[in-house]
Amino acid sequence: MSNIAEESLPEEKRSLNFIEAIVEEDKLNNKNESRVHTRFPPEPNGYLHIGHAKSICLNFGIAEQYAGKCNLRFDDTNPEKEETEYVDSIMEDVKWLGFQWDKEPYYASDYFEQLYEWAMLLIRKGLAYVDDQPQEVISQQRGTPTRPGTESPYRSRSIDENIDLFERMKNGEFPNGARVLRAKIDMTSPNMHMRDPVLYRILHAEHHRTGDTWKIYPMYDYAHGQSDYLEGITHSLCTLEFEVHRPLYDWFLDQLTETSYRPRQIEFARLNLSYTVMSKRKLLELVKNNIVNGWDDPRMPTIAGLRRRGYTPASIRAFADRIGVAKRDNVIDVGLLEFSVREDLNKTTNRVMAVLDPVKLVLTNYPEGETEWVELENNPEDAASGTRMVPFGKEIYIERDDFMVDPPNKYFRLAPGKEVRLKGAYVIKCESFEADETGNVQTVFCTYDADTKSGTGPKQPKVKGTLHWVEASNAIDAEVRLYDRLFMDEDPAGHKDKDPLEFLNPDSLKVVTHCKLEPVLASVMAGEKFQFQRLGYFCVDKDSVAGKPVFNRTVSLKDNWTRTKGN
Ligand code: ATP
Ligand code: MG
Repeated sequence: MSNIAEESLPEEKRSLNFIEAIVEEDKLNNKNESRVHTRFPPEPNGYLHIGHAKSICLNFGIAEQYAGKCNLRFDDTNPEKEETEYVDSIMEDVKWLGFQWDKEPYYASDYFEQLYEWAMLLIRKGLAYVDDQPQEVISQQRGTPTRPGTESPYRSRSIDENIDLFERMKNGEFPNGARVLRAKIDMTSPNMHMRDPVLYRILHAEHHRTGDTWKIYPMYDYAHGQSDYLEGITHSLCTLEFEVHRPLYDWFLDQLTETSYRPRQIEFARLNLSYTVMSKRKLLELVKNNIVNGWDDPRMPTIAGLRRRGYTPASIRAFADRIGVAKRDNVIDVGLLEFSVREDLNKTTNRVMAVLDPVKLVLTNYPEGETEWVELENNPEDAASGTRMVPFGKEIYIERDDFMVDPPNKYFRLAPGKEVRLKGAYVIKCESFEADETGNVQTVFCTYDADTKSGTGPKQPKVKGTLHWVEASNAIDAEVRLYDRLFMDEDPAGHKDKDPLEFLNPDSLKVVTHCKLEPVLASVMAGEKFQFQRLGYFCVDKDSVAGKPVFNRTVSLKDNWTRTKGN
C-alpha cells in the first residue's frame, strides 16, 4: 500500500466493509488464482465529480489494499457525447487524487471489433436479430414490470438474413435509427433488461478514437460486462442501479465464452450529497448556460472544481473513507465534505493575516514613519512550520465589522473607549473615529500601550478580544472570492415537477476586490493554500496576476451554515 493511502486511513482500526469481506473470501477460496483486479470505468462525457471520487477511491483502494491492479477504462460507446477534453480531464483527476492505473488506460472502443465478432456469434447461434422497427415501437413493446412484452415481428428472421442486414448496418448502408440489433432472450422475463435488449444502433458519427470507421455502436449494456471480461477484472464494482443488469451481463458471457472465469459484479450505493446536483447532464447544463464559469468553477462538485476551490487529494480520500460503502441509498451531509477539508488544511496550512473589508486604523501615539517587525507563528499545528516576521506600524487595516460605533453588550471587538489586542502586537484603545455623512466609518483612531507587546512586554493585560490586522504601507491588494452553496434546496434534484436549476442560489459567488494582505503573500503561486486568521481557508486561484493575487475561500473556519440554519 502506498504512503498516500496510509495517511488517509483513520487511526482506529475499522472492521471490513462488505466489499472487502467479499474480496477476502474470494482470495481465501483462491478464486481467480486469488487475483484482485478492479477497474474504474467512466464515460468520457463530462468531468468527474465527487461521486466518481468515491468510486475511484473504492476501486483503486481495494486494488492497493490487496496488492492487486486497477484499470482505468473509458466506456466510450457513445460518440455523440464524448470528447477528448473529457478523457484528458479524467486522467488528470484520477492522478491528482493520488492513484495510478495499471498500464495504459483502456478504452471500450478498443473492443469494437471483438464485440462485433461476438454479435455475429450471437446471430449465428440464433440469439440475436435485426429489428426494423423504430425505437418508440420497440419501447412500447417492452411492456411493464407487471405486464409481459410483445415479440417483434422481426424476431423470427432467418440467421442468413440477420447476418446480411447486420453486415450492411456495419457498412453504413442504412441511415441512423433505421434498424437495431437485439438479443433474442425472453419478452416475458420479469426482468425488463432481459426483454430482447438492443445491442447495436446505427450512428453515423465521428468517434473520438475510431474516427468514422464504425457506423454502428454497441450499447453500454452490451459492451460493459464483456469489457470487464476481456480485461480479466475480478471484482466489478458498480452502483446499485446496475444490480438488475447483472443477469444480462452474465447471459452475454454465458453465450459467448467457454471459460468458467467471470468478473464478479458487486453493487454499492452511489454517493448523494445534500445541496448538490451530481448528474453529469445537469452539470453540463450549468457549464453550457454559463451559470458557472466552466467545469472547474469552484462552486462545482467536480474534482476540478474542488481542486480549484482548495480541496486537497488527502481531504477527498479521507471523506471517501469516512462515508464508507453501503448497500442502501442515502444522502451525505455536504458539511462532512467541508469538515474533511477543514481538518486537513488545519494541519497543513500556514496562518496569515488578511483583511477582506478594510477600514483604516491610526495609532495616534505611534512614531511617525516607523516600522517594526513582529514575529508570528506559522502554524501552531505543525512545529516544523516556524515563524515569520510581519511588519507593524502607525497605520493598519482592520476588518470593518471588527469596529462598532454603538456596540451591543458582549461585543468584545473594537468600539469607542474599548480595548483589544492586535494579534501578535499590542493592546490598543479606541479614542475616536471619523465617518462620512452616511455614517460609514472612514478611520478609527487609537492609542497603543508600548509595554503590552505580545509575549515580551512587561504588561500582558487580559483583554477579551484579539483582532487580525494588516500594516498599511506594506499591504498587498488582493481579490478574494467567497462562495456559498450553488443550490439553496437540500435535495435540488429530488423534486418531481421542478428543475434543480430553479433552486440556484443567486448569491453563491461574492467577489471582494480591495482586500489587504500581509506582504508574505506577495509572491504566491496558483494552488497555494493558507488559513486567513479568523476568516477561513483560502487557495490562490489561477486567475492571479503578478502583484494582484486572487484567492478562493475553500471553507470558513467553522460551519457557519449549520450555526445560522435554525434561526
Ligand atoms: P451518467 O450520469 O452519465 O450515467 P455516471 O455518473 O454513471 O454517468 P460514469 O462515467 O458512467 O458516470 O461513471 C463512472 C463510474 O463512477 C461508474 O462505475 C459509476 O458507478 C460511478 N459513479 C458515478 N456516480 C457515482 C456516485 N454518485 N457515487 C458513486 N459512484 C458513482
Ligand atoms: Mg454511467
